[in-house]
Amino acid sequence: MEDLLAGAHMSIAGGIYRAFERGALANCRTIQIFLKNSNRWEAKPLTEQDRSLFRKAQKAAGIRPVLAHDSYLINLASPDPRHYRKSLDAFIEEMKRADFLGIPYLVLHPGSHRGSGSKEGIQRVARALNRARDIAGPAVTILLENTSGQGHCLGRRFEHLADILERVCDRERIGICLDTCHLFAAGYDIRTEKGYRSTMREFGRLIGIKTLKAFHVNDSKKDLGSRVDRHCHIGHGFIGLEAFRCLVNDRRFKNIPKILETPKGPDLQEDRMNLATLKSLLK
Ligand code: ZN
Ligand code: MN
Ligand code: MN
Repeated sequence: MEDLLAGAHMSIAGGIYRAFERGALANCRTIQIFLKNSNRWEAKPLTEQDRSLFRKAQKAAGIRPVLAHDSYLINLASPDPRHYRKSLDAFIEEMKRADFLGIPYLVLHPGSHRGSGSKEGIQRVARALNRARDIAGPAVTILLENTSGQGHCLGRRFEHLADILERVCDRERIGICLDTCHLFAAGYDIRTEKGYRSTMREFGRLIGIKTLKAFHVNDSKKDLGSRVDRHCHIGHGFIGLEAFRCLVNDRRFKNIPKILETPKGPDLQEDRMNLATLKSLLK
């Protein structure tokens, strides 16, 4: 896997540091983790011991960078003031946890405006990000993830993401994580080299290639423009191999982490399979 900076999302069951042994087992050079149980608001505070176990395990596994992904409960676009407040507090806490562990990136879903309109939703997300930065400090780079546009979720179009970025004060520490399944489900046809190139050109024009800091590499169980978010194994879905061939050979993204979020069992055999598939596409 020397030439491919790729890995997968890893479970933190039994302790956050345990993600590294799993990552090593699955041949990952990089991993993504949750910073706590992703379906709960509360979490035990991290201790010095957690941090030292994390550092030792990371060093032993030789895995870097680590990406953190925020909890699914967080919705910084929520029109409900109580949910917005709770989400903002939880997000600030996640930034602090990432900072404490020395994790450089925190991936965030822009959230759902829940029928209140994208314009208002976008304003709320940007306001929350500015506030979170003021409180949590400068260490962690926030990565906004594009979405499939299910329901009232923001971030289906590059224009939405650009709109949020433009309202953020500290542009240095905010970037984008592009999810290939979400791109395709949102209607960006990356199945051919021509489609891949025009999609990336549009991204470059509206957002800027340098803002792209990570990929989620997932094939899609649903067809182009379905706006349904269902991941599947690389080459087994509606996207097919060509898009991934273009991606892994795109020299602009050589040093950008590529993370699988595909289905798997406890022995992680599927992660090894998908990573081997990606590597086989390298020219
Ligand atoms: Zn995500
Ligand atoms: Mn993703
Ligand atoms: Mn998804």
